[in-house]
Amino acid sequence: MENIEVLFNEKVINKKVKELASELYDIYGDNEVVFICTLKGAVFFACDLLKNYKGDARMEFLRVSSYKGMESTGKIELNLSISEENIKNKNVVIIEDIVDTGNTLSFLCDYINKMNPKSLITCTLLDKKIKRVVDIDPTYTGFVIDDLFVIGYGLDYDEKYRNLPYIGVLRKTKKDL
Ligand code: 5GP
Repeated sequence: MENIEVLFNEKVINKKVKELASELYDIYGDNEVVFICTLKGAVFFACDLLKNYKGDARMEFLRVSSYKGMESTGKIELNLSISEENIKNKNVVIIEDIVDTGNTLSFLCDYINKMNPKSLITCTLLDKKIKRVVDIDPTYTGFVIDDLFVIGYGLDYDEKYRNLPYIGVLRKTKKDL
């Protein structure tokens, strides 16, 4: 049996997403911005962020995977790519659900930088700073969290729990260990 403890409820998440959308708009004003949503985990965050963003926003999607169960495999696979014409000379924001070791974000930044964007910044909802192995920090972070395995609001455990409206900590009971 799994046990879920609420870490950030819907109200807290909505408030943070609105703040981030407003901070991003302060940077770009009415200039065009390409927001890249990394699938699948960042999909709820990216949609809410863009719904609250007042400027000229385009949306692209990338799909990468590195996690199996509760552990990062450390091997990043790109499963869905973006065409260069949508990035070249554009202001780009990579939207991530959570940064852990930093491998994925570093991989994504390298991938996008090769397409010569005009500017590139990153925005993550969650950051497990303590787990970092790559020297990379997101430009914008919603919440810094401890070394916990979180689910909900897009985040899964083996494809389950993405539809929870809140972010929770998944704790396994003794029976499952
Ligand atoms: P990194 O490459 O930084 O180690 O891992 C980033 C990716 O691992 C995230 O985009 C996410 O898909 C997955 N991940 C890292 N920590 C967690 C977690 O606590 N819960 C879930 N569901 N996924 C995580």
